[in-house]
Amino acid sequence: MKILRARFVLPCAGGEPIVDGCVAIAADRVAAVGRFEDVRSRFPGGAVLDYRQAIILPGLINAHQHGRGLSPLLLGYRDDALEPWIAARRRHGPPDIYAVTRLAAEEMLANGVTATLHANYSYGSDYREELGETARAYRDAGIRATICIGYQDRGFLAYENEAEFVAALPEDARKALRIPAAPPYAGSVAGTIALMEEMSARFGDAPLITFAYGPAGPQWVSDEAWTALARDAARRGVGLHFHLLESPLQAAWCRKAHGGSTLSHLRRLGVFEAKTSCAHGVYMSEEDMTLAREEAVVVVANPGSNLRLFNGPPPVAELHRRGCVVAVGTDNTALADDEDYLAELRLYASLARTPGIEAIGPSPAEILRTATINGGKAAFLSEGTGSLEPGQPADLVAIDCARFEAPDGSCPRNALPLLLARAKGTDVALTMTAGVVRHARRREDADRRAHWRHVATASVAKRETRQDETTVAAIQRGLRGLRREV
Ligand SMILES: [Zn+2]
Repeated sequence: MKILRARFVLPCAGGEPIVDGCVAIAADRVAAVGRFEDVRSRFPGGAVLDYRQAIILPGLINAHQHGRGLSPLLLGYRDDALEPWIAARRRHGPPDIYAVTRLAAEEMLANGVTATLHANYSYGSDYREELGETARAYRDAGIRATICIGYQDRGFLAYENEAEFVAALPEDARKALRIPAAPPYAGSVAGTIALMEEMSARFGDAPLITFAYGPAGPQWVSDEAWTALARDAARRGVGLHFHLLESPLQAAWCRKAHGGSTLSHLRRLGVFEAKTSCAHGVYMSEEDMTLAREEAVVVVANPGSNLRLFNGPPPVAELHRRGCVVAVGTDNTALADDEDYLAELRLYASLARTPGIEAIGPSPAEILRTATINGGKAAFLSEGTGSLEPGQPADLVAIDCARFEAPDGSCPRNALPLLLARAKGTDVALTMTAGVVRHARRREDADRRAHWRHVATASVAKRETRQDETTVAAIQRGLRGLRREV
C-alpha cells in the first residue's frame, strides 16, 4: 500500500478538488481517494509519498502518435504539405525502432502522459518485426499503450490514377521506383488478422499493452478491407483507429470518391460495428460531425501537427459545440516539436473557443475530460480509465503548483484553470502507471531518457538510403502538381 499525498487531488474531470488530499494505491489500482487524514486512518500502514507541492490529476492520454521519439524534423524531414512530407519519409530505412519508440514513451512519461494510442506506422521494413519492437518498447517503458496494427492497400504514391502519376514522372525517378519495396504492413487482410492474433498472444502477459486495428485512412484502404477489418475488430472486441480528412488533397479525393460524407460511406461499409476513433478530421463536413456523434466515433485532434503540415486548424470549436467526443494527440509533430502534451492541450483549448461576445468554448473541466476520459475512449481503454476512483488503474500525474502560487505561497482551491493556462511538461513532478512511479524528478529518470535519446539519435545516422534526393524531389513535384488541379 502506498499513499500519495498532495496539496490538491482532482479525482476526475468535473470533480471537486480535495484539499490536502491523497490517493491510496494497492498494487496497480486505486484503493481510496479522499482527505489525507481520513484515508490515512483507514490504511495506517501505508507508505506516504509526500507531494504537497503538487496537484494530482488522472494521467494524461496522448490519443494519437506514432512512437517517433525523434520528431520527423530530427529524422531529417522538414515541415511540408502532408503528401510531399510523407514522400520524403520514404527516403530512408528504419532507425533503431525499439530505441526510437522507447524514447517516445520516455518523453511521454516525462510529460505526464500515462497512456497512449500508437497509430498505424511502418518504416517499410519487416512489419511483423517492427510491431514486435514497438510493443516491447512500450512494455519496457511501462506506459499503457494501445498499438494499432496498420493496414493499407492503395494510394501509396498518389491517391488515385497511380499508374498515370508514375508515368508522368521523369525517367530516372521511374527507374528508381521500380526497385521492389517491401509491402506496407502485413500485405493482406488475412495477414493483418494473423498479426493481431500473434501479437495479442505474444503480449498477452503484458497488462499495459493492447492492440487495435489501424486501417490508415479512407484514401489508403479499399472498401472490402474496411468491412473485413471492422468485422474482425467487432468480433474480438478490439478498436479500430484511422486517419480522417487530414489534408486538402485527401478532402478532395474523399469528396469525389464518396460523393458526400466520408463517415456515411464508412457506415455503409459496416465500420462502426466496431469501436472506432479517428485522427485529425480537419475537413469533416457537417454530416461527418453528426455521424461522429451518433456513431460514437471519438475524434482525436492533433492541432500542432495540422498547423505545421499546411492543413489548417482542426474544427474543434464546431466539434465541441456539436457535442462530439474529442481527444487530443501530439502526432509527434506538436507545435514546439516536443512531446509537451499540456502545451498541445492548451493549443486545442484555444482553438476550441468560438469567436464572439458569448464566449462559447469548453470549460476547464471539459478540457481535462478531453485529455483524460475522452483519451481513454479514443484508445479503447477500459471503462472509467481517466478518472481516479477506487478500483480504477492507478494511472496519475502530479503537477507542481509552484507556477500557480501567489507571492504569499497561496494557491486557489480550484487550481485547474491556472494549471491549464500555465502548466508545462517541465512542471510534471511524478508520473505513475499501474501503481508504479515511472518518472519523477530523479537522476535515474533523466539518465534513462538521455540514454535512449543517445541510442535513437545514433541509429538515425546509420539508416539505409532508399531513394536518392532527385527521385524524392520528382515525386514531390508531381504531388504538388496534383494539388494545383484539385
Ligand atoms: Zn498521425
